[in-house]
Amino acid sequence: MDSTPRAIHHLNCGTMCPRGARLLAGSGGLLEPTRLVCHCLLIEGAEGLVLIDTGFGSADVAHRRQLGAIFNTLVRPVLHAEETAAAQLRARGFDPGDVRHIVTTHLDLDHSGGLPDFPDAEVHLLGDELRAALHPGLRERTRYIPAHWAHGPRWVEHEGGGEEWFGFAGVRVLPGSGEEILLIPLAGHTVGHTGVAVRRGDGWLLHCGDAYFHHGQVQTPPRCPPGLAAFQALNQVDGVRRRENVERLRELAERHGGEVELLCSHDPATLPAAS
Ligand SMILES: [Zn+2]
Repeated sequence: MDSTPRAIHHLNCGTMCPRGARLLAGSGGLLEPTRLVCHCLLIEGAEGLVLIDTGFGSADVAHRRQLGAIFNTLVRPVLHAEETAAAQLRARGFDPGDVRHIVTTHLDLDHSGGLPDFPDAEVHLLGDELRAALHPGLRERTRYIPAHWAHGPRWVEHEGGGEEWFGFAGVRVLPGSGEEILLIPLAGHTVGHTGVAVRRGDGWLLHCGDAYFHHGQVQTPPRCPPGLAAFQALNQVDGVRRRENVERLRELAERHGGEVELLCSHDPATLPAAS
């Protein structure tokens, strides 16, 4: 298998419109809805397609109740069938069955919903994340949705050790990717959360998942709308590690911004306009 990257497509696989634009986005009314996205990547490799995260899937669109009443009420996902990764692949002329590998930053409900639409793909993730999702504690039961893996995905767990990349340790290489797709552990939001680095020309694109939520957090000086800061603190499993990782990412952007472009899952500002 050779999935050396050729082209990278940016997909929004889920729009969410929570109320509170002023606190969540920094401008607008207190109760005005804002717009968050689920930024996924589709990578054309030499032998197949690789997806980084899957957003919401067709079963979420058909059965929104499976996402839970709290999530639906507060986060207000739009759930359009045409936004699913599978539909967007078809719209671009690809066959979803050609997706050989999926790398998930983590298994939160807004990142794993598309997994059932790609039942034959290998699903790569950190072992800590899979264990947390399959055996959630009381606090984690609303973030992980068992329906998203009821089809029995072909999990491929990646464990510790690994390489170093720009000072980040424990880095795993996606097998067969020619060392061009890397899992960069960024725990804190969830226990096994990972970023995914994709080589692009002379540099790298680093999908940071939910390691941070607003582009200002990795700028110098850092900034973040207060509502988004509170949301991240409420949804973290390890605040110390989460804040450490945000700081490491800010330093990475400051020192190596010419070589590494960072993006995060939910900030529409880091999603290319055409997506
Ligand atoms: Zn998320």
